[in-house]
Amino acid sequence: MRYATQAQTESLYIHWPFCPYKCHFCPFVALAGQDAHMPEYHKALISELTRFAAAQEHQMPLKTIYIGGGTPSTWPDQLLLDMFDTLRNTFDISLISEITLEVNPGTVRPEQIAVWQQAGISRISIGVQSLNDQVLQNLNRMQSASQVRQLLKQLAGNFNSISVDIIVGLPGVSEQEWKDFIAELVTWPIMHVSMYFLSVHEGTPLYFRVARKQITLPPDEGIVDLYYWSVEALKNGGFMQYEVSSFAKPGFESQHNQMYWSRKPFKGIGIGAWSFDGKARIQNEKIIEKYIKAQQEGLDAVCSGEELTQEAVRLEQLMLGLRCMRGAVISEVMDGLSQEKQEEFIHRLTALEEKKIISVQEKRIFLAPTSLALENEVARYLSVE
Ligand code: SF4
Repeated sequence: MRYATQAQTESLYIHWPFCPYKCHFCPFVALAGQDAHMPEYHKALISELTRFAAAQEHQMPLKTIYIGGGTPSTWPDQLLLDMFDTLRNTFDISLISEITLEVNPGTVRPEQIAVWQQAGISRISIGVQSLNDQVLQNLNRMQSASQVRQLLKQLAGNFNSISVDIIVGLPGVSEQEWKDFIAELVTWPIMHVSMYFLSVHEGTPLYFRVARKQITLPPDEGIVDLYYWSVEALKNGGFMQYEVSSFAKPGFESQHNQMYWSRKPFKGIGIGAWSFDGKARIQNEKIIEKYIKAQQEGLDAVCSGEELTQEAVRLEQLMLGLRCMRGAVISEVMDGLSQEKQEEFIHRLTALEEKKIISVQEKRIFLAPTSLALENEVARYLSVE
């Protein structure tokens, strides 16, 4: 399956998979101890990018670029600048509004700040997760609270759009400790917070350690209560919630993520990267050697692709509408349903409304503030396929 060249693509995701260690909870395509592949992988990225651009009829104007990983702050300076030269020579980035780089504490040299500024990076996303060194190190994440604070000091004044990722529900973090963490976080020079629940993905070391009872996860109810407490605390700290996991000071909402949530086309470059051309979701090869070889031979390195059925589109619209504060549009979600399914849908919608799990306003469905953590369950219940 190939990405449709006529897609109105305005966003790129570029995947840098190298990490200095592999966190036990990590579900991403991330490689520890494989830095020797960096130069060849970089060349392969350039090759995928330039072939993609060459297939377009016109020079493509980009609005957002997101460099994720992995740990993109391990991208060697000269190679990163070379990537940005290629981006500038290949695409029209004169009107770009957001270029994000993910960085991890403990991987940043002071001189990188100037390199990132020279490259044109406008937004930094830091993987903080927790300030409890022991808890993180027990999950093989080798960073410390002092590295987090040091990094914030380095970045403040150099980037005005800084985001942090945090995980609620890490085993070993007490309730009071989490509350103290949020109280400190709202004082940081940051504009955006992404707060995720800890997910135990099958096949990860965390999954096996939980199965062997070497790690006990905190109870779900306690975590959900802490999530709701944090939503309020972040709001009081000036961070408005605009998505189930996303909070921003006014004007600092992630434009790249909002593009995903609006189901706009984007091209993913690099191993394991997903693309969406408006009709199909396509994933690149996940094995680095195969990806590099395919790029050297000028071939597409796709490992899976699926054209979305009407049912799949409807479920995506429902899920995305619910998780964003704009709500799911009822006419979109009902489009194409048989009379019988429409009746079933309305029946379920009414039941959820009566239980105050959702509200319906101006022909859109919204999660009630006390149901934000139920987004998946509500979407699946309302999906009457
Ligand atoms: S730093 Fe991020 S990408 Fe790398 S192993 Fe940890 S969670 Fe995965």
